[in-house]
Order: sequence, then structure tokens, then C-alpha cells
Amino acid sequence: MITFAAQFSRLSSMNLHEYQGKDILNSFGVRIQRGIVAETPEEAVAAAKKLNEETGTSWYVIKAQVHAGGRGKGGGVKVAKSLDEVKEISGSIIGMNLITPQTSAEGKKVHQVLIAEDVYYPGDNEPEEYYMSVLLDRANARNMIMYSPEGGMDIEAVAEKTPHLIFTESIDPAVGIMPFQARRVAFNLGLKGQAFKEMVRFVMSLYTAYAKSDATLFEINPVLKTSDDKIMAVDSKVTIDDNSLFRHKDYAELRDIREENPIEVEAKEVGLNYVDLDGNVGCMVNGAGLAMATMDLIKQAGGDPANFLDVGGTADAARVEAAFRLILKDPNVKAILVNIFGGIVRCDRVAQGIVDAYKNMGDAINVPIIVRLQGTNADIAKELIDNSGLDVQSAIEFQEAADKVQAVVS
Ligand code: GDP
Ligand code: MN
Repeated sequence: MITFAAQFSRLSSMNLHEYQGKDILNSFGVRIQRGIVAETPEEAVAAAKKLNEETGTSWYVIKAQVHAGGRGKGGGVKVAKSLDEVKEISGSIIGMNLITPQTSAEGKKVHQVLIAEDVYYPGDNEPEEYYMSVLLDRANARNMIMYSPEGGMDIEAVAEKTPHLIFTESIDPAVGIMPFQARRVAFNLGLKGQAFKEMVRFVMSLYTAYAKSDATLFEINPVLKTSDDKIMAVDSKVTIDDNSLFRHKDYAELRDIREENPIEVEAKEVGLNYVDLDGNVGCMVNGAGLAMATMDLIKQAGGDPANFLDVGGTADAARVEAAFRLILKDPNVKAILVNIFGGIVRCDRVAQGIVDAYKNMGDAINVPIIVRLQGTNADIAKELIDNSGLDVQSAIEFQEAADKVQAVVS
């Protein structure tokens, strides 16, 4: 499941934990709820003591660090009012399988907790929670700040029942955010005096952080107005554009592969562009555009793609074998459709690669394989496959391939 803001911004990206996102915000001068990450109850107590020295807080919030929102609802965010409670609550959250509205039914294992200062302390005013995200507005080729005075845990419900309470501010990426835009945000949130000024600063620095970190999404829910009118980020969901990581060498270590799909992690290691999907027909294609078209073809034939896989230009035996092995790790796969266009690479070489990989893998291939090769030497390739004696069906035309997929999945 994807978060409210993430549905507007999906692309090749690296998700961060709350504490990592807050570190980035902090480095750009965005005020955050302070915290220290811990992996054991003992570390949690030490973290709480340190926070007490630095901030004077004597209440703490223990927050599960997993790549999923809705942790509060799932019991992954709890207030501790003493060091004993810090120890007890951390002990119960670390190692738990946290199930939230955004995780699968099995939930996510918690390896770390963030020990944060309590920022909902009493004072002249009640603390107030707002929603704010910065994201790509692809349709308009601009950035966008989306925000609402109704922040907290249920922004999806706000969007559905009271959409007029969701505001947007469109920002030209070449110009950057103008101060009047930040003032409009503060005004629409109903702020005055010190809190208004703080919000203007918050929005300006938040946008700068988004742009400079090459993020594709910042989602801060809640942004808090404390009882003494400070504005700060209490939560953070930060997604960084993968393609920018060469510019941010220090971000590479923020990747937590425990949170990622294991097949996708393995694909990355062997240099294959693979995205796991829910369907039953595996596909191996060269070129992202053809891969998309192939997924459409599978759908039209009554199947459902099990993955997106672009093997790239060099579809030799080793690469084809690596791709077959990845696809077959998904237990839902009932058939594999190979769709290769021989433009730079010759079809007969790819066909030979498929035959070699198949022979090499022996029993490992236990589903029907349909191969469509089109382009240079397509007819020689078809002959090669048809004469191989292997259980591989060949096709040259798109429709032929579709019919063969249909025959297998229906
Ligand atoms: P999420 O549920 O995964 O979005 O996690 P959040 O970081 O947004 O925390 C969930 C909720 O915990 C917030 O909406 C707050 O109501 C509550 N919370 C967070 N920080 C504090 C705090 O310092 N004190 C208190 N009392 N509650 C907090
Ligand atoms: Mn939140």
C-alpha cells in the first residue's frame, strides 16, 4: 500500500526511515522533534538520558522505525513517562511484527526504535497538528506543496470527506519557492504572530531541503505547532530519487535493504532492472518501453504481469539465466513471456542465449516459456528455438505471443 502523498509520486526511488529523513531536514535548518535511534532497550535508555540532558524532556516517545506509515494506529508509537517505561516499551516494540494499515497482513519486523522528546507538552495553547508534503507534480512539470490544517493520523479520510481542507501551492522548480507562497501557506493554516513567522521559515527551509536533497517526496504528518508556538516536524517520510544518488554519496548508506523486496535487491546486485508485481505471468524484455507494452499485452491476453524486467541491451546466456532465476523466485509465476527486439542485439544470439540458459538450468525451469523475438535474424532465431527440443514456444508476431500466453493462463 502506498501513502496518501506517495500515490502522486511513484518512480525509482529510495525510501528512508523517519529518523534518517529528520536528519536530512535538520541539516537544512528545518526544526524537528529531536530523537536518537536505538536497537536495544539498553540503548534506548541511554538515548533517553542523553535527550534529557540536551532538551530537558522527561517524557519520551518510542517510535518503531519501519518503512510504513500508520505506525501510531498499529501500536508502534508510544509515550514513555519514565526511564523504566522507556526500557519496557522499547523492549516490547523492538522485534515485534508491526501491522499497520500500510503494511501487508504479516506486518513488518521492527529492528530499531527512535527515542524522541515529547513535544506535546502543556502550555498557553493546545498543540495543533497539520499535514504537509512536498512532491512532484508531474502533469504540470512543477513541484507542489500539499498541506492541510487537519493533520495527524487520518489524512486519507480528510482527503475523502473534506477535500476543501487540502490546499496546494505550486512551485516553479527553476525559480524556487517565493516568500509570499510560504506566507500563503501559513495564512491558510490559520496562524498568527510568532507561529505564523515560524511556519514561513519552516516552509521555506522544507522546500529548500526537498530541492537540494533531490527528493521526490517529503511527507510530514504531523507538522506540529507546540503549546509555545514552535513549528516542527514530528514525523517524516522522505523518498530520494535513485538517479540522483551519484550526487549524494553520503545517502547511499541510508538504504535499508531489510525493508526492500528481496528479489528486487538481488536484481539490483546483478544489474537487472526488476520490479515485483502481483500477477502470474513473468516477463523478460529488452527496453523499458517494450516492457511496458508487453505488460499491457499480458493483461489483454487475460493474464497479469508478475514483474517488470528490463534485461537491457546484452541479452546473453548469463544474463538470460540470471533473469530466469529471478523471475522463478516468485511462486505465483505460471508462465514466462520473453519479448526481445533485436535491434542492436541479433535475435539469433539471444535465442542461443535462451537455449543455453535453459539447458544450463535443467529442472529449475518448471513453467512454460513463450519467446517472441522480432528484428534482425528473427526467422533464424525462431528456427533455433523450434529445433532445440526444449519446451519453449516461439513466436514472431505480437498477437501470436498473446495467443500463446492466453492458452497457458486460461
Ligand atoms: P505514524 O502513525 O506512522 O504516522 O507516526 P507519527 O510519527 O505520525 O506518530 C503518530 C502519532 O503519535 C502522532 O500523530 C502524535 O499524535 C503521536 N505523537 C508523536 N510524537 C508525540 C509526542 O511527542 N508526544 C505525544 N504525546 N504524542 C506524540
Ligand atoms: Mn505520521
